[in-house]
Amino acid sequence: LLAPDGTIRATIFAEMSALAEATGAINLGQGFPDEDGPDEVLDAARRAIKKGVNQYPPGRGSVGLREAIAAHQKRFYDIEVDPEREVLVTAGATEALAATILGLVDDGDEVVTLEPFYDAYGALIALSRAEHRTVPLRLPDFLPDHDDLRKAVTDRTRLIVINNPHNPTGAVLPLDTLELIIELAHEHDALIVTDEVYEHLTFGLPHIPIASLPGAWERTLTISSGGKTFSTTGWKIGWVTGPAKLITAVLAVKQFLTYVNGAPFQPAIATGLALPDEYFEGIATDLTNKRDVLSSGLTRAGFEVFPSEASYFVVADAAPLGYDNAVTLCRELPELAGVVAVPISAFCHEELAGEYASLVRFAFCKRVEVLELAAAQLARLG
Ligand code: PMP
Ligand code: GLN
Repeated sequence: LLAPDGTIRATIFAEMSALAEATGAINLGQGFPDEDGPDEVLDAARRAIKKGVNQYPPGRGSVGLREAIAAHQKRFYDIEVDPEREVLVTAGATEALAATILGLVDDGDEVVTLEPFYDAYGALIALSRAEHRTVPLRLPDFLPDHDDLRKAVTDRTRLIVINNPHNPTGAVLPLDTLELIIELAHEHDALIVTDEVYEHLTFGLPHIPIASLPGAWERTLTISSGGKTFSTTGWKIGWVTGPAKLITAVLAVKQFLTYVNGAPFQPAIATGLALPDEYFEGIATDLTNKRDVLSSGLTRAGFEVFPSEASYFVVADAAPLGYDNAVTLCRELPELAGVVAVPISAFCHEELAGEYASLVRFAFCKRVEVLELAAAQLARLG
C-alpha cells in the first residue's frame, strides 16, 4: 500500500479530486453528488445533535437504525431480517467490506471478485493475505462470462465478492448470473459478499438482491450504505445484513476497527430509509436524466459510450478520439478540457489493465448544468 519512496499511495479518487481542486476543473472523477440530499434526513441529524445523541451508540448500531434497515429490506425486497442479530451498522460500506473480508478470510484462502473492481476490494483482500482471483467483465455490457465464473470459483474460494449494481461500469448482474453464483457458492462451499450501495440508483432494471434468491441467504452477507441513497457520502453510515453467525464474525473485527460511528447520523439515515416510495423513485429518475445528459454529451464529443444501467458512473472509450491510454488522458484532461475523470485501469490488476487501457469512467451525479458544461468542454477534444 506504500509507494517505493515510503509515502502513502493516494487512492485514485483522492488523486483525481486533488487534481480537480488544483486546476479548477469540473470533477467527474470521484463519485459524490454536488447537491444535498432530502431535508427530512438532514433535519433529523440536526435534531439528533440538539437532542444530545452525541455519545457512543450501541456496538451493533442504534436500535432505530437497525429496525429501519430491516423494515427497508422487507418493504423493497421481501427479505426478513432480525434487527437484533442479523444487522450490523458500520462506518460506511467501506468498513463493512473491511470487517467482512478480514473477519471471514484466512491466509491463503482465495477471494473471487469481478474485474474491474472497486479499489478497496484489492487493498482489503491484500490486507487479509488472501489470493485475489478475478473474473473479467466483458465489453460492451460489462457482464461476466459464465464459463469464466465457473473457472474462477474453486474449493479454495472462501468468498465470492460481487458489486451489484457495479462501480465503475454501471452494469447490473442478470438473474441467471446471480443464480450461477449461488450454485457455485454451494458447490464449493464458499460465502457470498454482495456490495449493493447503488441498490436504489438503477435506471429501469429492477434491483435484485442476491440474498433474496433461493439458496442464498444462509451464505450471503449484504452490504449497503446511506451515502449514495441519501446523497450523504461524508456521513459514512453503512451496514451489513445476513445470518447471525456470519454477522458475529464481522462484528468481532468491526469492534476493533472503529467500535462505533456517527451517532447522530444513524437516526437520520433511519429517517431516510423510511421515506415514501416516491423519494426512491425520484432519485432514480433524476439520475437517469443525468446519465442521459452526460452519455449523449460524451457521444457528441467523440467518445464511444457504453450503456450504464445503474450507479453514478458511465464508461467511455477514448480510442475513437485518438487516445489509447486513459491514464495519460486523465492526467491531461483538466488542461485539455477542464474536466477530471478516472481511468478504468485504476480498477484493474495490471495484467488486465491493457484490455481496458483506453476506457475512462465519468461520474454523472452532478447538476445538469455542470454536466452540460463538462460535455461542451469535452467537445474540444475532437
Ligand atoms: N462500494 C462501492 C462499490 C462504492 O462505489 C463505494 C463508494 N462510495 C463504497 C463501497 C464505499 O461506500 P461508503 O462511502 O459507504 O464507505
Ligand atoms: N465510491 C466513490 C467512487 O467510486 C469514491 C469513494 C472514495 O473516494 N473512496 O468514486
